[in-house]
Amino acid sequence: MKEIDYIVVGLGIAGITFCEVLEKNNKTFVVYDTGNVSSTKVSAGVINPVVLKRFTPVWNAKEHVETSFDFYEKLAIKLGIPLFEKMPMLRIFKSIEEQNNWMVASDKKELETFLKPKVIKNENPNINAPFGFGEVNNTGKVDPIVLIESYKNYLLKNNQLKNEDFEYHNLQVNIDKVLYKDIIAKKIIFCEGASAKNNPFFPNKTKISNEPLVIPNKGEYIIINSPELKLHSMIKTSLFVIPLSADLYKVGATYDREDHTVKTTQNAKEEMINKLKNIINCNFEVVGQVAGIRPTTRDRRPFLGTLLDCRNKVFFNGLGTRGITSAPSLAASLYNYIENGLELPKEMNIKRYYKW
Ligand SMILES: Cc1cc2nc3c(=O)[nH]c(=O)nc-3n(C[C@H](O)[C@H](O)[C@H](O)COP(=O)(O)OP(=O)(O)OC[C@H]3O[C@@H](n4cnc5c(N)ncnc54)[C@H](O)[C@@H]3O)c2cc1C
Repeated sequence: MKEIDYIVVGLGIAGITFCEVLEKNNKTFVVYDTGNVSSTKVSAGVINPVVLKRFTPVWNAKEHVETSFDFYEKLAIKLGIPLFEKMPMLRIFKSIEEQNNWMVASDKKELETFLKPKVIKNENPNINAPFGFGEVNNTGKVDPIVLIESYKNYLLKNNQLKNEDFEYHNLQVNIDKVLYKDIIAKKIIFCEGASAKNNPFFPNKTKISNEPLVIPNKGEYIIINSPELKLHSMIKTSLFVIPLSADLYKVGATYDREDHTVKTTQNAKEEMINKLKNIINCNFEVVGQVAGIRPTTRDRRPFLGTLLDCRNKVFFNGLGTRGITSAPSLAASLYNYIENGLELPKEMNIKRYYKW
């Protein structure tokens, strides 16, 4: 039998950020992941502190954004690969009224560091923005495929990754340890994203209303090639348009709570193409499409921590629509809870589910 500190189930952004905290604290661990259904891999990877529909800050914006910038910058250096880039985000204004709303919002204490208090003129003839843009400070993007693939390689080199499904029925949980096949670990942490629904240890339904804890929310993106577009900032209106490399852009996303498959659909493709035609004037060709499932929750907060029955089974699930942004900070809070006894804020603590 091999003795280690942690078994980690799932290598999306929750698993990666938790592995990084474990390594920093000299804990030994092994990860199980097949990457079959990965929200992280298909995500836009955008780090943005503002809800651009309503001009309000995202949850814990300052802390989450600052921690994530630092996390991805350091991880890129450690892995020796460019996986993160600071990039401006421009919100297209639809009217004079929106320009005014932006200026009012930029004056608010919680937004003054994030919203530039001026209207930027559109100089790109291929973008429809007669009312100009508002620019958000502190924005960037992670390349999620590079992130996942390079992190997997890093773990493989260190013999810390098992490219296989974790079989829940083979887990044995004792008071001070867990046993799985030939491994004895002090704890196990579950980071399965939307697949948490398959975990028999994760409470799948609320006690009173019988709702699922993690609500799958499918999202699709198209990838376009447009040599004429020449866009160097991310733009947001009814869709995000995110520059990738060369003349490629990621455009999306859709939201769908009914379809829980990761198959791309013609409907979503058409919806995004139609919206895009209102945003840009130049030619483009759709060269790819991806779909993933966001692990959302009814109160838009994640499920972190342990249940009342056992402190060896730890959960890091329900990262929702902004996990790339929030996970680095949440992983640190979760580690401090498990190892250093610092209580988790109630709003993210999985124990809140007992009251539902
Ligand atoms: C279209 C789309 C766009 C998005 N854009 C953004 C964005 O721009 N910015 C942002 O901050 N967030 C964004 N998100 C949200 C973000 O992607 C998620 O919040 C985050 O990726 C969730 O990470 P996770 O690690 O919890 O889950 P996942 O990334 O889904 O990872 C879970 C992993 O666990 C593995 N797994 C599950 N069960 C098992 C098992 N039994 N055995 C082994 N492995 C298992 C899966 O294969 C998977 O690899 C987007 C999401 C989508 C779908």
